[in-house]
Amino acid sequence: MIAIPAHVREVLERLWEAGFEAYPVGGCVRDVLLGKTPQDWDICTAARPEQTRAVFADRRVIETGMKHGTVTVITDGRPVEITTFRVEADYGDRRHPDSVAFVQSLREDLARRDFTVNAMAFDADGGVIDPFGGQEDLARGVIRCVGEPEERFREDALRILRGLRFAARLDFRIEERTAEALRDNRALLNDISRERFFSELKGLLCGTGAGEVLRAFPEVIFTVIPELAAEYGFEQNSPHHIHDIWTHTTMAVDAIAPEPALRLTMLLHDVGKPEKYFTDENDVGHFYGHAEAGAVKADAILRRLRCDNDTREAVTLRIRYHDIEPPQTKKGVRRLVVKLGEPTVRDLIACWKADSADRAAPVRKRNLAFIGVTEGLLDELMAQESCFSLRDLAVDGSDMLELGMEPGPALGDTLRELFRMVTEEGVPNEKETLLRYVKKP
Ligand code: ATP
Ligand code: MG
Repeated sequence: MIAIPAHVREVLERLWEAGFEAYPVGGCVRDVLLGKTPQDWDICTAARPEQTRAVFADRRVIETGMKHGTVTVITDGRPVEITTFRVEADYGDRRHPDSVAFVQSLREDLARRDFTVNAMAFDADGGVIDPFGGQEDLARGVIRCVGEPEERFREDALRILRGLRFAARLDFRIEERTAEALRDNRALLNDISRERFFSELKGLLCGTGAGEVLRAFPEVIFTVIPELAAEYGFEQNSPHHIHDIWTHTTMAVDAIAPEPALRLTMLLHDVGKPEKYFTDENDVGHFYGHAEAGAVKADAILRRLRCDNDTREAVTLRIRYHDIEPPQTKKGVRRLVVKLGEPTVRDLIACWKADSADRAAPVRKRNLAFIGVTEGLLDELMAQESCFSLRDLAVDGSDMLELGMEPGPALGDTLRELFRMVTEEGVPNEKETLLRYVKKP
């Protein structure tokens, strides 16, 4: 017996009382069966959108999805999406269903869903309605298309990335025929809207099984980001590395916290390497300048993928600095904090660690010791000091004006000099003290 939350149950009961079939469906069923708490509960129903709206006439309702059969009802402050049983009537450009056709039965609605684990519903008694073997695939950890894989990916190419996303997130493997069809149809990804696939890509990267999916389906990823293709099989000929660039990249992705900006940073961090490769007189490979080149490439890639500006800027900044020596003195760490801010330096430390994860043991040990020193110094610094930007200085422009200074460049120079004295000469960041320095002729 499944525990359906009260606010969802209430929506279901209203629809039932009005004489309509209605079921929780899709991701919530999958998550409950996996023992996870669903993010949201979607309901499908025989009621047409206008009928659903009439049933909830006294409620706040969002109607933006009506054309595709979806009415969103707000209960208890939480949105519940209610969608009429439907099939896609025409896939036209493969971007989005041009039009939907409403259908009579739950079964038809389940049949249009992408994967067996996403094509289940709960009935009124909490039983599972599962016409395509979703429970068995859940138990065995398998992502499998509902119906003919080839056809399903041709209908909607976004399913190719969705399949990889679910495999990464659930740590499932992709069933053989589904995997084959997904590879064969990867070129269709170029037809779908970038916004849609960027969100799937982030979801994929943040999954626990991301690295494995990237290693198993490189050609699909390279269809979306062709700039990465040159990394594949690229041997580094360096005592610092034991893997080719692509394999190293996939391992670095797994080695950092599952936050989109960090995972994207590791995915793209070495994209500048192939073009910067050269061997010295001892046949050892080097990649001088690859971080800067990579930051420039990553910027172009993320713009093309319609990444939001904050994430894009965060990623390119981290890539730009991913290959610097972790500073080994407090002065060096302070400089970095002044330049980049503490959160960025913390992220860089995480990137340096992730970048070392697959190195040969002695190299990794030495790198981690180095990074550990930087981290220790950063902790100390943050505990002892509080001034890392002009804004943190105990005096500001208005204090200077009160002392009788004229507004203008000299005022700014004075503040910057005070800041330098505090951060580099150990002058205490206290108003009285700093004002005394200004007063001196
Ligand atoms: P999440 O927990 O990530 O939201 P979800 O399974 O709820 O996972 P959604 O993208 O919210 O995924 O989609 C809800 C349901 O709609 C899916 O479970 C699936 O049944 C169906 N679905 C979504 N997108 C597609 C698609 N492109 N093709 C076929 N069915 C789809
Ligand atoms: Mg969902």
